[in-house]
Amino acid sequence: MARVIIDKEACKGCGLCEIVCPKKILVLSESELNKKGYSPIEVTDMSLCNACCSCAKMCPDFVFVIEK
Ligand code: SF4
Ligand code: SF4
Repeated sequence: MARVIIDKEACKGCGLCEIVCPKKILVLSESELNKKGYSPIEVTDMSLCNACCSCAKMCPDFVFVIEK
């Protein structure tokens, strides 16, 4: 199963990855802020990830590591 590793402190909450994820499993946190004051991205259901890496390619801040 694929695993999405997120560096939440590096996320600036732009939402670009949320748009490109084909599985729609990336959402901005509604309960958490990182040290920069942004709502970081979260994975809602890791089991649905197909390891396409679209999120990692889109993110301007290199927040994602995808393990296949
Ligand atoms: S690797 Fe693909 S399916 Fe998995 S979270 Fe990123 S964009 Fe979504
Ligand atoms: S594209 Fe990167 S910086 Fe923007 S919300 Fe997604 S993880 Fe955060």
